[in-house]
Order: sequence, then structure tokens, then C-alpha cells
Amino acid sequence: MPHEPPGTALLRGAIDCHVHCAPHLSGRSVNVFDAVRQAAAAGMRGIGIMCNFQNTSGFAALANEELGNLGCEAFGGVIMQPTAGGVTLEVAKAAIGYGYGPGTGAKFVSLPTHHTKFIAEREGRSPAFIETTFAVPHNGLVPDPVPAIMDLCAQKDVVFDCGHVSAPEAVALAEEAKKRGVTRIRTHGSRYPLDAIGAITALGGYVELSFFILTHATQVGLTHVDEEKHKINGSSTIQDFAPRMRAAGDRCILSSDSGVYLLPPPVEALRQYIMLTQSEGFSDADIRRMTRDNPAALFGIAL
Ligand SMILES: [Zn+2]
Repeated sequence: MPHEPPGTALLRGAIDCHVHCAPHLSGRSVNVFDAVRQAAAAGMRGIGIMCNFQNTSGFAALANEELGNLGCEAFGGVIMQPTAGGVTLEVAKAAIGYGYGPGTGAKFVSLPTHHTKFIAEREGRSPAFIETTFAVPHNGLVPDPVPAIMDLCAQKDVVFDCGHVSAPEAVALAEEAKKRGVTRIRTHGSRYPLDAIGAITALGGYVELSFFILTHATQVGLTHVDEEKHKINGSSTIQDFAPRMRAAGDRCILSSDSGVYLLPPPVEALRQYIMLTQSEGFSDADIRRMTRDNPAALFGIAL
């Protein structure tokens, strides 16, 4: 038997729901086909293709047509950034329908990642820019057309992803989504306080913690369409993550959030993340829950 790096066995059956391998404005470590081939070679069950600029459901559908026989399911969705058409019902509808037949389109519809007030402020954007971004007001009332987009997600049984908003905004969005019958709610809680994580999971929402935030890639500004490079100050450590993983419990998801050329290719990034998580005392069963069972449940992928 050739030597396997530690953690390799835990990749079998895993689903990395956050891979930035789509064509991009800057360098990627793998393309979509390679990402699927490499994940399949590691025995992984699925990868979620994410892009901050365009809907990825078409790439996923294409990858499944070509490589579906390998046993690793690709899935995509839309992050409703301005470049992908913005926060509109039409953008969500198009993404959900964009595939090779019913059920092959978007598995998630996400509020913006960088084009939110929360991130724009942390990136030091101008007041004029911040004015144009997505936010939930302090009264917690979810602005139009988001309720209609939630209704669509409930009807089509796809994930509503709260995007990169603040913790109180994520709780308000999860409450509204649940009220509207959305059963698949995703939040990005790498920096959320534990009480917000508890509130989200109590509503049935999932809390994702991404490896990217723990890495040296955070030292480099992310590429944006305006060619400004913005980074968010303050990286996190696995010691910051561990209590959040425990607080999210049965609703915690670990993802690589990799694909950028600065990080190892996604499969290796996920292996490193698994090893890092193990170092905080998480068991193999915990890791399988966070990297396989929970993403499978959220995205409706058969194991
Ligand atoms: Zn990402």
C-alpha cells in the first residue's frame, strides 16, 4: 500500500461545499473539471462550486454531464453580487433553472458576499460604495425582494444562503427564512459570537466555518472587479474556531473555501483543515458529521 497522508481516510465520502474553482478574475489552483476529478480520486462525495462573480450552476451541470460517473457530485449556485445580477428574484430564478433539466440547476441562492454593508465597512470602502450594498436594517425587517427569494427557495427546496452579513443580520434572515418555510438555511459563522451561532442553529440553520479564514491567504487582498484589493483585518485561529464548531454542533459544516492559487488545491486544503480540527480534540465521528453528514443534509446529497 502506498503511504497515505494522515486524514486521507476522512476525505472519503466528504463534501466540500465551498470551492472557488470556477473561471475567475485571478489565478485558480484547479479548474472545475480538475476539482471534480481530484475530489473523486480522494473518494469525496461532492463539491460545491462557488464564485463571487457569476452563477456556477451551469459549470456544475456541465461537470456532472462529463464526470458524473466518477461518483463525486458537483453542485453550484448563485451569489447575488452585482456582477451576477444583484439581489433580484430573476437572478435567483435563472440560477435555479440553469442546468440540463429539472433539478440540475442551483442548489443554493446566496445574498452577496462582498457587496454587503458588513463586509464593505470592514474592507474600508467609501460611504458612496457602502450606500449601494445589502444590509438588514437595525429593526430586523428583511428588505425586498429577499422575502420573495426566500419563498422561491422554499418552493424549489434549495438552500438560502445568508451571505457575508453580520451575526445579528444572519439571525434576522434565518428567522425570516424559517418563517417562510425554507428548510435549508446556510450561514457563514467563522467570526460570529457563540450566542448568534446558537440562535441560528435553534432555527435549523447551518453554520459554516471555512479554512480560508485560518490561512495565509488572508494576508493578500481579494480581487474585485474594480481592481481594488481589499482585505479584512484580523485572521482567526483554530482556537477561535473550536468553540464555534462545538456551539454549532449538529449544524456545523467545515469547508475549504479554497481554489485560490495561494492555497493548496481544495482536496489537500480540506485534508489540512481536518488535521487542524483533529488537533483541537474533535473525533473522527465529529469530523465526518461536519464534513459529510451535515453538508449532505443541507444540500440534499445522497450518501
Ligand atoms: Zn468563499
